[in-house]
Amino acid sequence: MPDYAADMPEGDSLHRAANSLQVLAGQRVAVETPHPRAAGKQLAERLDGRLLESVEAVGKNLLLHFEGGLVLRSHLRMTGRWRVEPRGAKRTGRPWLVLRGAEHEAVLWNGPVLELGRDARSVAGLGPDILASPPDLDAMLGRLRAQPQRAVGDAILDQRLVAGIGNMWKAEALWAARVSPWRTVADVTDEELRDALDAAHRLMQGRLDGARPLHRVYRRVGRACSRCGAVIRSYPQGEAARLAYWCPGCQKGGRQPSA
Ligand SMILES: [Zn+2]
Repeated sequence: MPDYAADMPEGDSLHRAANSLQVLAGQRVAVETPHPRAAGKQLAERLDGRLLESVEAVGKNLLLHFEGGLVLRSHLRMTGRWRVEPRGAKRTGRPWLVLRGAEHEAVLWNGPVLELGRDARSVAGLGPDILASPPDLDAMLGRLRAQPQRAVGDAILDQRLVAGIGNMWKAEALWAARVSPWRTVADVTDEELRDALDAAHRLMQGRLDGARPLHRVYRRVGRACSRCGAVIRSYPQGEAARLAYWCPGCQKGGRQPSA
């Protein structure tokens, strides 16, 4: 089964986009919305010439804070991409948004979600960010515990409970913590939840710092687990039916689908 959802930008790629956009922070930006679908949102009219105060990645959202308390939320879904180029770079096609500073311009291509609001977190409805330093594990535990009957592999992908974990890091973090994605939240101890969340934070931060991703279970179906030698499995999980990857040898328990 192809894992389409795996191509969705993960939290760490959003953080890379946020990093590259920092060159525009602190500048007044000229704003254009060449794409007709973006033009309808009246963003250029409301943002052109404003000071871009800061840019941050929160979960899977890029938040651009403008003077006057305006926050533009960009969610990339499967297709969106931010690029930062020298000012005036030639391009063909119609990007959704161009933010032009003194020397650079940030260009959003195929950005399916662009919302202008005043309180970004309530607009986005996000849980605590897994890439915060340090991440607020207690708050995440509180939110997860409110959904005791959900499978833990499903719950930690819910951005309202924990913001920023994508399908790949879910698989790798649960393997690192030896937790089966099929156990219910109620069945998993606080220590196990902390281990899994801490592993997600550590792995994602490492990737952000330039470490090469080392996959233990993700897209390794049919291969031997590097820890116990059992054969790695995958199966769709949750309402979005995204593929869970796990080792039945060292991630035991829960209602594992029959092989
Ligand atoms: Zn194993």
